[in-house]
Amino acid sequence: MEYMRTVGKEVVLEGVGVFSGKDVRVEIHPRYEGDGIIFERADLSSKVIIPLKVENVIGLDGATAITDGEHTILLIEHLLSALHGLGIDSAYIKVYGEEIPLFDGSALPYVKVLRHAGYTILPRLKKKFYLRKDFEMQNGNGFIRFRRSLATTISAKISFPHSLIGEQSFSLVLTPTNYLKEVCFARTFGFKSLLEERRKKGILKGGDLTNAIVLDEKEVLNPEGLRTEDEFVRHKVLDLVGDLFVLGRPLVAEVYAELSSHKLHVEALRTLWTSGLVEEVEVSSLTFFLVKKRFARRA
Ligand SMILES: [Zn+2]
Repeated sequence: MEYMRTVGKEVVLEGVGVFSGKDVRVEIHPRYEGDGIIFERADLSSKVIIPLKVENVIGLDGATAITDGEHTILLIEHLLSALHGLGIDSAYIKVYGEEIPLFDGSALPYVKVLRHAGYTILPRLKKKFYLRKDFEMQNGNGFIRFRRSLATTISAKISFPHSLIGEQSFSLVLTPTNYLKEVCFARTFGFKSLLEERRKKGILKGGDLTNAIVLDEKEVLNPEGLRTEDEFVRHKVLDLVGDLFVLGRPLVAEVYAELSSHKLHVEALRTLWTSGLVEEVEVSSLTFFLVKKRFARRA
């Protein structure tokens, strides 16, 4: 039997918002009643609570955000990646600002505090989404495919005309151990020219070499270099682990993404949800569910 998990105790992180340049505090609290992830904009005078579900999520250029239509929290994807990667089902997250700090551009800062806090097992069986049938979506050059499976595998392929990136592929069988070992440390990346342009426009007030891998035409500008040669594509998988969690529960599927974006991830998941292509299954009834499906397929 697999039971739901919440964080073992409250954790607090503070960092600079890459868009606003302001200090932001994030508190992750255990959630014992109900299940799922709840966000609160805790900096506002009236309490704004936004549950994590795909209807409340938007995929932007370079970020995933949660909104109630009026209030927004930007850059939720790396925090969600850490929670999903570590198998946390339930948490209450207070954000004192309109964005989640990027820290070093990976999920590692979240993973460190969450591992330190441990987890509490809740007296409720874990619920996951399974696919009713395979699905794929193309958007320009971007492509994402979901196949029915008994385990979650996330594969990504990226291609950039840069000598250090080129074409890279990476595949992860999603378990907490694999996530910790293979993916959680991989940082986001950007090009110096684009970063400078955005900083001039005042879009990235807090963006610098401490919260992303920054490249010029030839090399990595961060003095510490890369954490792995294929850190770029590993980060794409990290992003996918985060974005796949916007359904509010783990989705069990074989996922393959090529040149994909947050926008495409969220759009595909919204379509899966609104078209009724995913089915919620309590883990105890899984064997029955699979046998049932097998018979249904033969019939
Ligand atoms: Zn990212």
